[in-house]
Amino acid sequence: MHKVSKDNIIYAMSAQNKPALHAEPKAQIQFETWDALHGQVKSADKGFEGLDWTRVNPATGPVYINGAQAGDILSVKIEKIETEKTGVVICGKGMGVLGFALQGSATKIINIENDVAHFSENIKLPVNNMIGVIGVAPKSDEISCGVPDSHGGNMDCKEIREGATVLLPVNVPGALLALGDLHAVMADGEIGVSGLEVAGRVTVTVDILKNQDWPLPMIINDSHVMTIASNEDLDKAVDMAVANMTAYLTQTEGFTAHDAVMLCSMAADVRICQVVDPKKTVRVEFPKKYLSDEIL
Ligand code: CA
Repeated sequence: MHKVSKDNIIYAMSAQNKPALHAEPKAQIQFETWDALHGQVKSADKGFEGLDWTRVNPATGPVYINGAQAGDILSVKIEKIETEKTGVVICGKGMGVLGFALQGSATKIINIENDVAHFSENIKLPVNNMIGVIGVAPKSDEISCGVPDSHGGNMDCKEIREGATVLLPVNVPGALLALGDLHAVMADGEIGVSGLEVAGRVTVTVDILKNQDWPLPMIINDSHVMTIASNEDLDKAVDMAVANMTAYLTQTEGFTAHDAVMLCSMAADVRICQVVDPKKTVRVEFPKKYLSDEIL
């Protein structure tokens, strides 16, 4: 198995980034990742004040996938997510949905034991390890790792978890895959601007799909196929993610546009991934049981 250490980090997804590793399709790769704050917050007395914001949202990589060409699809199967035993959650003035109403900033250091996160003596949250940032080099200008877009990036989608496969567009030779920003627990919306941010390791299997024109990014798990879209405007992100799903259904299942819309209206859940990053992210979840064939 290939390994990429957290000495190899980037702060923007870019065609100019030097690969940390070259790997063949079907290779298994383990990425060692920092938390989203780059390990700067280790105690409850440290808040947003004094953070070095230039070090926030590092992603580990990038990895050059041999043979990946612009127009291909990069498939990233999330095999395993392991985290450290301590994470951090933080909120405060000017950050997140209620940032306008908060003064100062507050931090909790949270212990993770046996897949349970200890928020307080009485409140224990089941762990749902997920990847906040996963993406490839965009077509043209670089995009900060803090921003989600059609290349992936900071989508903060809680369905990017063990067992799921993330499909991303290949925009440049080698794709240049990078990931980081693990959360041990996060709810849809991520309203306070942070989940339970934690360092760890992610093991993936990569592959290249040729000659498919699917609306990306997408996620596939045991039960659902999902489309994802990000925009500054949440309504627009909904429109984009829905249009992507109906486009997928008309292309691959042969539905008319009207049938695809009627079916989605009854069977596809529209869910919010996050509303706190520079672009907001929405996903549409369509049950695989209504598809004619296994998608992958
Ligand atoms: Ca994030």
